[in-house]
Amino acid sequence: MRVVPACLADVAALAGRLGRALLPLCDRCQVCRGLLPGAGGGGGAGAGSWHGGIGGKKSPVCPVCAPGLAPRCGGFCPRCGAFAVDADAPPELCLDCRHGGRVWDGFAFHGRYEGLLRELVLGFKFSGRLGQGRLLAGFLAEAWQRAAGRHGPGSMDAGAPDCLVPVPLHPRRLSWRGFNQSLELARLLGRELARPVCPAGLLRVRDTIPQSRLPGRKRLTNLAGAFTGQARLVAGRHVLLIDDVMTTGATVETAVRALRQAGAARVDVTVVAR
Ligand SMILES: [Zn+2]
Ligand SMILES: [Zn+2]
Repeated sequence: MRVVPACLADVAALAGRLGRALLPLCDRCQVCRGLLPGAGGGGGAGAGSWHGGIGGKKSPVCPVCAPGLAPRCGGFCPRCGAFAVDADAPPELCLDCRHGGRVWDGFAFHGRYEGLLRELVLGFKFSGRLGQGRLLAGFLAEAWQRAAGRHGPGSMDAGAPDCLVPVPLHPRRLSWRGFNQSLELARLLGRELARPVCPAGLLRVRDTIPQSRLPGRKRLTNLAGAFTGQARLVAGRHVLLIDDVMTTGATVETAVRALRQAGAARVDVTVVAR
């Protein structure tokens, strides 16, 4: 890794805080921190490949990183995001969704939790860098739009939600980590979709063992009673639940059940990675 003089690091930190106005002074790839191609660059990856620009904006990712962050557009279940072997196959319901169904309504995700996307999600979780958050929220917005434009199982064709609710952290975990990445993503996405964020719509009332330390079959029982929905905030409303990653789906399932118990009329789910 290249050593960046302290004064330059300070300039980068300051630019991050002051927002887009200063960014051209130190435009860096939000994944590898390499310098982005010249002003107005917008990528430069091969024709037809995803270049990282969100909603037509200039890409915050360099041409080397962009292809590793392309959205998954085929070979997945539209109801839960489970992957098929062929990444180019049209979206098709998986066996579980064909038989059991899911507790949520619409579902959207950006890509597979591996490689660069995984690095980016973990980087944001532990650094909280605003640029990374913006990039991930852009992924959420695009995923949501793709699902809103689709029809059939798992689609978001009910339109924009009444409010966005992030998967909460238990207060003890929150004070240890300092911020809830799902809340930050929901805030950025809420701005993008012009919808309010309602962090108190779902509370984590019981601290649990981190899901990543448990085998799949124990994850649902670990979460029993972990969340409670706030009826005064979500009853009768169309809620969009936001999380960074969904692996087995146990956390999201438990959270959606709590929102439903509190009377939410419809619950869609959007996550960055699956
Ligand atoms: Zn890069
Ligand atoms: Zn499925």
